[in-house]
Amino acid sequence: MKSVLKMVNAALPLRDETRLYTLIAEDGVWTKVEPQIREAAPGPDEAAAGGAEWVTPDRWDGRGPEPGRPLCLDAEGRTVLPAFADAHMHLDKAFSLPQVGNASGTLEEAIANYASAVPAFPKEELKARIVRSALQAVSCGTTAIRTHLDFHVRHGKEVAMRGIEAALEAREELAPYVSMQLFPMLPCYDLTEEALEAGAEALRMGVTGVGGAPHIAPQPEPEIDKLFELAGRMGCPIDLHADESDHPRVRTAAYIARKTKAFGWAGKVTVGHLCSLAAMPDEDAREIIALLAEAGVGAVTLPGANLYLQGRRDPFPVRRGVTRVRELLDAGVPLAAASDNIHDPFHPFGKGDLLQIGLITAYAAHMGSPADIRAVLRMLTVHPAAVMGLTGRAIEPGNDADFVLLDASTPEELFSMVPERRWVWRKGCCLKTAGSRAEWQVPALARYWEDACERVSFRKRG
Ligand SMILES: [Zn+2]
Repeated sequence: MKSVLKMVNAALPLRDETRLYTLIAEDGVWTKVEPQIREAAPGPDEAAAGGAEWVTPDRWDGRGPEPGRPLCLDAEGRTVLPAFADAHMHLDKAFSLPQVGNASGTLEEAIANYASAVPAFPKEELKARIVRSALQAVSCGTTAIRTHLDFHVRHGKEVAMRGIEAALEAREELAPYVSMQLFPMLPCYDLTEEALEAGAEALRMGVTGVGGAPHIAPQPEPEIDKLFELAGRMGCPIDLHADESDHPRVRTAAYIARKTKAFGWAGKVTVGHLCSLAAMPDEDAREIIALLAEAGVGAVTLPGANLYLQGRRDPFPVRRGVTRVRELLDAGVPLAAASDNIHDPFHPFGKGDLLQIGLITAYAAHMGSPADIRAVLRMLTVHPAAVMGLTGRAIEPGNDADFVLLDASTPEELFSMVPERRWVWRKGCCLKTAGSRAEWQVPALARYWEDACERVSFRKRG
């Protein structure tokens, strides 16, 4: 007996906004995605005749569909999007601000304070942070996450591997609810043989790819060479923090793009932040953006963290720190908008809500026209999937029915109201029903959430 979800009157803004759609998922996979001629009104009678349960999002308890008893959901014109994909988070640091402060608010102090606090964090605490922040993102409609992980080999291999083990365990436990890609940040201040070997070991243990922040090294190019060499040897993707600086001469992105082209690694390399692009003259930035596009490098903007961190020491006028969003999109670079840090010394705010990040992107990049808003929507769905190398996330027959149903009828309403009421589905099973709090429909998920919240909160622990 198949479990069947039928949805009518769904707005799919990433397809055709002039129509509403009928969608069918069988055993968690889309089998039908069809535009309707007019608003469907099959109503409870027709559904009952077919033995189905007929509900609207407001009058539904979150249960089903059960095998043999189809669930018919009338979306009543609400928006249905592929579940969001967050291409750049730091789950292991999330909610660490009560333990690790940052008096100056600068990136430099955040890096220094966090690095010196790391040896004292037990594995269970790191894991609880990862679980809590990943589920926080799930509750907002995200079902795929790429997280960077601190990898402080200079405190000893055991400290570095503690975070890796915590992340691998959390990834496995949460696999039914969210896909997680793990990128340890190799220490670019002294990328020793020992550090590279530890990185290789983490990859053998199951992390996804090679990360790092080579722009902070005194000599970034040799460090980037070593990271590419390691990724080549291990056959894995690369995702680097690049040029998170207001200094217009910090330009590792250009070198990374040339390297990507030389290696023929289009689609396997990602650069995040790119703040210095916003601090340099137009023609210099254009050249670097063209290089990124030509090499097939993916990019991520982190507008929440960078609006907060960058430009701190500027006299007015103050630089804003957010990369050149429109120019990157116009050049054809797949550009995702992502969460970055949550309530840690790097960024005190955030909740893993990509819609909120989309709104911040729209403000920071002056994107509010109808076309712009739709471009921002793609930065939360289509582009992060491309950056993360994920296929099969679109709402199309044959793909998993991972989606978020949002209480808004148009993209304009979505970004204006940023609705809290969201129904989150993964493989045709409802994980969370409406409401601003995480109202889990899966008992195991509720348990993971409560356990993690007990360890990790906004209060300082004694
Ligand atoms: Zn980051």
